[in-house]
Amino acid sequence: MGKRMPVLFIGHGSPMNAIDDNDYARAWAELAGRIPTPKAILAISAHWYTDKSLVTTSEAPQTIHDFGGFPEELYELLYAASGAPDLAARVISLAISTPVSADESWGLDHGTWVPLKWMYPQADIPVAQLSLDYNLAGLDHYRLGDELRPLRDEGVLILGSGNIVHNLGIVDPSMPADGFDWAEDFRQTINKLITSGLHKRLIAYEELGEAAKAMPTPDHYWPLLYTLGATEVDESIELLVDECIYGSISMTSIVFGL
Ligand code: ZN
Repeated sequence: MGKRMPVLFIGHGSPMNAIDDNDYARAWAELAGRIPTPKAILAISAHWYTDKSLVTTSEAPQTIHDFGGFPEELYELLYAASGAPDLAARVISLAISTPVSADESWGLDHGTWVPLKWMYPQADIPVAQLSLDYNLAGLDHYRLGDELRPLRDEGVLILGSGNIVHNLGIVDPSMPADGFDWAEDFRQTINKLITSGLHKRLIAYEELGEAAKAMPTPDHYWPLLYTLGATEVDESIELLVDECIYGSISMTSIVFGL
């Protein structure tokens, strides 16, 4: 058993963050240099939204380009990390409240490989992905995160990837470095609840102020509940690149337990 690994929530934003050398890319790269090198990574991405809870078992997961209308360069990008079938088997055995099944078909989607490309550019750390079962409630996702906490003592980096404010329907390209007032308010409300360890209120986020506008669908929020579930309330919390962009996307990333 090694030192307990931190847990990350990454606000991944646009797939262009894979090739734009910007503040987010630099923050993710710098973060990887500050945390212990993981033996394997378990990524919970907003972009694998499924009818039951699945974990990838492939030895060589494909790079999935799950987006449209971006430059050719982005579609040519590959993240050739090996899979982590042993980690997937551990996930299946640890998941009690919600059974998790093995999946051979999915690979690494952009919620996973966009930040990992900067964090671990050599792609030399095995990666498994856990899906988001859209039939589950927030509390179920949180419980599953809680059950996966022992992985942290086995050298596994648990990485939730989404965005805390995510409304693509009303993004405003004229606001590249700013958020609508309600989006900034929602980001700050969530940040305060996180730094205060008020997990119950975060699980029931639909009851918070502008939640319906900030999160019209739960896919980009739920990865946060896995990261919260995998932490304990007395652990350190650090916010990175904590800002809204294009009016309605929060790029906030969070490091727990470093
Ligand atoms: Zn996304």
